[in-house]
Amino acid sequence: MSEQSTTGVLDALIIGAGAAGLAAAVALSGAGAKVALLERKPFVGGRAYSYPHPALDEVIDSQHVLLGCCSNLVDLCNLSGASRHIRWYDSITFLEPSSPTTPTRRSDIGPGPLPSPGHSALSFLRAPMLSLADKSRIAFGLLDFLRAYPASDDEPFSAWLQRTRQTDRAIRHFWEPIIVGTLNDTFDRCSTRYAGQVFHESFMKSAEGGRLGIPSQPLSEFYSAVARLAEEQGASLYPRTSIDRIECLSNGLWQATASDGSTRRAQSLLLALPFEQTARLLGTLPESSLQRQRLLPSLAHFTHAPITTIHLWFDRPITDLDHAALLDTRIQWMFNKTRIRRLETNTQPTECQYLELVISASHPELHQSREEILKSALAELVRFFPIVREAKLVKAGVLKEARATFSVTPGLDRFRPTPSAPGANLYLAGDWTLSGWPSTMEGAVRSGRLAAEAIARATGNAANFLTPDLPPAGLMKFFSR
Ligand SMILES: Cc1cc2nc3c(=O)[nH]c(=O)nc-3n(C[C@H](O)[C@H](O)[C@H](O)COP(=O)(O)OP(=O)(O)OC[C@H]3O[C@@H](n4cnc5c(N)ncnc54)[C@H](O)[C@@H]3O)c2cc1C
Repeated sequence: MSEQSTTGVLDALIIGAGAAGLAAAVALSGAGAKVALLERKPFVGGRAYSYPHPALDEVIDSQHVLLGCCSNLVDLCNLSGASRHIRWYDSITFLEPSSPTTPTRRSDIGPGPLPSPGHSALSFLRAPMLSLADKSRIAFGLLDFLRAYPASDDEPFSAWLQRTRQTDRAIRHFWEPIIVGTLNDTFDRCSTRYAGQVFHESFMKSAEGGRLGIPSQPLSEFYSAVARLAEEQGASLYPRTSIDRIECLSNGLWQATASDGSTRRAQSLLLALPFEQTARLLGTLPESSLQRQRLLPSLAHFTHAPITTIHLWFDRPITDLDHAALLDTRIQWMFNKTRIRRLETNTQPTECQYLELVISASHPELHQSREEILKSALAELVRFFPIVREAKLVKAGVLKEARATFSVTPGLDRFRPTPSAPGANLYLAGDWTLSGWPSTMEGAVRSGRLAAEAIARATGNAANFLTPDLPPAGLMKFFSR
């Protein structure tokens, strides 16, 4: 897009090259619009980023996972070729730690021969991590999400767990690893609506919806395929361009000013940023501006939740699992990066092993030192993999992401804006906007596509960029609303 181009019907400036901005850029450039994408970092992917860690001499990221039901993200990956770098898994392994008298115990939950919603029922019934009493409470609870999940997001998930009388072990071994892992906050700070959505879409509606997809490339490399597609379609990408100010000019055009003083103008401006960066740029508009008055009060209702990842390189193989949920610990998930990345690097997973441990909702860890986090993670890991005691830890890193996600706190939906909420050709995208999804890459991609639809509509070009949800399978055809 030329600096002052204003002639294209869908001429848009997009600020932020995370999943939301990239999705909008692909949709708009694919529809023939002149689009510029301005990103302050040297790489794309936003919070789903990777970078070469100088001290570790490794490219690291915080492992991101998608599900089969992430229909828009999957579609974007298919369009751009990024899907070649997703490893798909049908089942999830849950590990209980060993004790002085019992070894590590494994439960695998995945699809079997029964039709949905019962596709995981046999493995669930066999799972030793839950007693019959736990399983019957869980099954009773899941019935709530059989047809759909609540339209209102007012009820905290903690209240739902109490109301449906979930047992302590059902909470620790089933609800917690899945909900804290996907919604990234404590039960009182997550609404039942989004918890129900996770179970309806990924556990009950179809086996395909519950497949676990793990990018096998470092994340910024993974998302660079999407950026390349936008560029091939004519979009211009400007990395290392941090926008400091936005303004609406007297001729109705929007202008974005970068930190080096350069300006770019367009008919439409899309802020594809996290909520706090959106608030910062809206704050550069005059106090009398309607967009600022309309949105800033809503943004005050959003809060962040942190994720901490621990990166460990051992001198020998620790496990032949690619990933697992580690129960009864601070660690939600273990990712075996050596195995997950093995097709990319063409190395045999025989010698060193690189494991990544993920602590979701890691509020306490924000106040701990790197050494404290590492020490406690290693002590917990030994309980699952005793070989860790003999193995040499070659190197280790701890990555704290204080602003990893926004929390889907009960009642937040009424403050999540639609893409066109600001008006006057200013648009919003980002996982935190009203996408119908929690803080995820799918939510971000949906928001980018919804914003692109709104921009197209405003110029008289009705377009439908959203991919439909996966259809219900098996008996769910009769149950799903
Ligand atoms: C550690 C971690 C683990 C996660 N795990 C998962 C997971 O397993 N699955 C999942 O689906 N989601 C996960 N998420 C959440 C997921 O990363 C986000 O929901 C998603 O990436 C948000 O995308 P976005 O485009 O809305 O925002 P962002 O990714 O934040 O993109 C915004 C972009 O705007 C840029 N920017 C900001 N300010 C400016 C400015 N002034 N000028 C120019 N550019 C600017 C930023 O650099 C960034 O690139 C995780 C997040 C973290 C941090």
